[in-house]
Amino acid sequence: MNYISSRGRAPQLGFLDTLLAGLADDGGLYLPVSWPQLSHEQIASFKTKTYEEVAFEVLSPFIGDEIEPEILRGLINKAYSSFSDQSIAPLRHLEDEHYVLELFHGPTLAFKDVAMQLLALLMDHVLATRHQRATIVGATSGDTGGAAIEAFRGAEATDIFILYPDGRVSDVQRKQMTTAYEANVHALAIDGTFDDCQALVKGMFNDQAFRDRVRLAGVNSINWVRVMAQTVYYFTAAVALGAPERDISFSVPTGNFGDIFAGYVAKQMGLPIKQLMIATNVNDILVRTLETGTYARDTVVATSSPSMDIQVSSNFERLLFEVAGRDGARVQSYMDELRDEGQFTMDDAHLESIRRLFVAARVDQNETDAVMQDVQSRLKLILDPHTAVGLGAARKLAPGDGVPVVTLATAHPAKFPASVEAACHVHPTPPAHVAELLNRSEKSDFLANDLSAVESFIEANARITAKG
Ligand SMILES: *Cc1c(COP(=O)(O)O)cnc(C)c1O
Repeated sequence: MNYISSRGRAPQLGFLDTLLAGLADDGGLYLPVSWPQLSHEQIASFKTKTYEEVAFEVLSPFIGDEIEPEILRGLINKAYSSFSDQSIAPLRHLEDEHYVLELFHGPTLAFKDVAMQLLALLMDHVLATRHQRATIVGATSGDTGGAAIEAFRGAEATDIFILYPDGRVSDVQRKQMTTAYEANVHALAIDGTFDDCQALVKGMFNDQAFRDRVRLAGVNSINWVRVMAQTVYYFTAAVALGAPERDISFSVPTGNFGDIFAGYVAKQMGLPIKQLMIATNVNDILVRTLETGTYARDTVVATSSPSMDIQVSSNFERLLFEVAGRDGARVQSYMDELRDEGQFTMDDAHLESIRRLFVAARVDQNETDAVMQDVQSRLKLILDPHTAVGLGAARKLAPGDGVPVVTLATAHPAKFPASVEAACHVHPTPPAHVAELLNRSEKSDFLANDLSAVESFIEANARITAKG
């Protein structure tokens, strides 16, 4: 399978080069040249298969012959061996037509593990077979950094440096980054905010000489492989509820639009998804976009679902490319408008296409707390705040027509204990391996908010450039 850029001016790449590139040279995001099609019979056959077997069948057409089937099977099995639930993504019935899909049984208790565990193994495998090394650099406000470190710890061909704002992440989040003692892992506490960390990472990617010297690679949510890996659980969940003989809807707690775009991909591949519900907290750029047709940045407000406190949804560009008939020049003009004016307005035809595919709802702080309280008191189930936003939106948007609605449970409640206690006065118990983290000693380096200081540190410590 080959991949093209959403802005139309970067060279086509094969799967492995797309994996290593992350962002395209023209600033665009990669998508496959066409959507693989799975037949009704093939989807029906998933009913009797394990998560890993379904993953192999769903992912193979995106990879083509670039990885030997037996090697791919091995990487998939290894990626999901770190999950504490054998079914990887268990589905739970709540009440009436509502279900939750638990995506938080990976090592760092958030759904990002599902894609990151596989991405890391694929990347290390490619680099090892090419006798190359790479250096991963990323910024985190909390969840992504831990998931990336957990996935890359001990990797042979990759070193990882994660920048986080010193004193501005939760204890659990920090410990998940600072208790990986492997030599290829570096947690960097930056004297600054998350925005400063992101600006430093951007600065490194824009410094071509540095980028080449350390062979910089990115694993943020615009990497195609993260979206691809997330399509799998839409299939396993829908089939468990009667697809392909029946339609299923999904409600997705949304920030960067990566997870819900994976649902769109599953639908393009032949899965009968009725509605894709975009659930946001008060940082509602996507809800406003669907209402008005204008995509306009606003200021970010802190909520109890911090992984969705975002006012620019990077993966939305992939959807724009789709509804614009894959016209890269049109996407480029939207993005130019966004850069120059802080907003852009979609053509009516593009907006109508998006409205045919998606519905959206905003769930504010009081509503989120009320959902958590209600589910805890009546159903004796503790939801994390991100999942509560998802269920709140599902309840607002479900037409009550008997179609099952699956809300993606994107984090374990023990990852956000303070918010859970504030909303429903219970203390969520963390799994043993996370509780144990809290007593371990920490390894991190403290650096100034200064690009050249951070670049020097990375060059001195990355195996690709380190002396001796
Ligand atoms: C990242 C994240 C989200 C948002 O996912 P996107 O793919 O960015 O839309 C939702 N919930 C949790 C817990 C997350 O970590």
